[in-house]
Amino acid sequence: MRQEHTALTVAQEQLRIAAEKLELDPGLHAMLSKPKRTITVSVTIKMDNCTIGVFDGCRVQHWDALGPFKGGIRYHPNLTLDDVTALAMWMTWKCAIIGLPYGGAKGGINCKPKTMSQGELERLTRRYVSLIAEYLGPHRDVPAPDVYTNAQTMAWIMDTYSQLKGYSIPESVTGKPVEIGGSEGRVCATALGVAFCTREAAKALKLKLKGATVAVQGYGNVGYNAASILQDMGCKIVAVSDSSGGVYCPEGVNPAAVRVHKSKTGSVLNYKGCRNISNSELLETECDILVPAALENQIRGDNADKVKAKIVVEGANGPTTPEADSALYEKGVCLVPDILANSGGVTVSYFEWVQNLTREHWTLETVNGKLEDKMVKAFGDVQKLARKEESNLRTAALMLGVGRVAHAVKTLGLWP
Ligand code: NAD
Repeated sequence: MRQEHTALTVAQEQLRIAAEKLELDPGLHAMLSKPKRTITVSVTIKMDNCTIGVFDGCRVQHWDALGPFKGGIRYHPNLTLDDVTALAMWMTWKCAIIGLPYGGAKGGINCKPKTMSQGELERLTRRYVSLIAEYLGPHRDVPAPDVYTNAQTMAWIMDTYSQLKGYSIPESVTGKPVEIGGSEGRVCATALGVAFCTREAAKALKLKLKGATVAVQGYGNVGYNAASILQDMGCKIVAVSDSSGGVYCPEGVNPAAVRVHKSKTGSVLNYKGCRNISNSELLETECDILVPAALENQIRGDNADKVKAKIVVEGANGPTTPEADSALYEKGVCLVPDILANSGGVTVSYFEWVQNLTREHWTLETVNGKLEDKMVKAFGDVQKLARKEESNLRTAALMLGVGRVAHAVKTLGLWP
């Protein structure tokens, strides 16, 4: 296999490995290697300077054998249809592993969200939703936040969808603000799930979390909250980064103070008492636990050997290539794969959907308790299968997820 990867070549290779281990029917493998439906749209809006902005958007619906499509919406200048397709596939396996009645989807718009005003982002979101609305819905496809989208974006999605239908439909999207039907705990859910996985992996390795050193790549929703929760669990956060670069401090940093610095200056760089480092240096930082929580293809064949962490917990989707997976496994690194490690987000999204459908509102304690139960069970299922198969956790997780979806597809049969 070639060294240069896209998210899609990684996802396809992972599916190939799982299909081989599961001895999957070649026809089923071929079915699952492609999305059921891909919608591409041209999102045109009035920009603040009165010009017309034209942006490529898409929604990829991978497979829905286990339930309605579910997946985030990403705004990013480098986003490609292939990336979104890979992210949709990972959502399908993720929902199956954690045991949610959902299929996998993903969507996004190729744009530069950092340079756009709130007004432009609102018009972009509403126009995008109007273009794909007929394929969305609480029992059809339910969006959620991803990179550079947030609770406000979800509120615009809910409002646009509701306006088009003529009545309020909070269950049409998750990750909304709590005041309009969002769930307690959704903002921190992915990070809390990452922390639960870190704790379970540390237990398996007999590594004490108290005093364990952590490096986090990406300082957004997942990265910042993971740093903060892991610090609460006793870990020392020695390095963090964002798209501008990172900072390193062997004595540890206070995640909340770094966040204040980032909101004032625009990046984590130059945080007091730290040395500035690059994003590749961050991955090679001397630490016990590494949490990639930014983008795809970060740990590759060319740098996996330099990773010093004993545990890698993938907050991001697709941060590690198959070559790096093998290299880390050979080195004895315990890597908790994305489709398990970051499934806390979609799990609490599911809780939000259930609360909306039943017109209930659960307490934070209830939400986090249910999340912990699901994450610990899924981690245990994957760990058990990995031991049985003598494989890494990624292969076991894929076998579990792909196996469950393939079984459902087979049981449903082909129509006509
Ligand atoms: P976010 O937009 O809140 O934050 C992204 C962060 O990554 C920002 O700090 C940004 O500066 C940083 N970043 C961007 N490019 C980078 C680069 N090249 N190097 C280092 N840092 C970079 O996004 P998020 O929601 O935290 O998502 C991060 C990752 O977690 C993504 O892979 C996403 O798919 C995954 N994820 C998110 C959720 C969720 O609930 N938000 C759930 C599951 C998985």
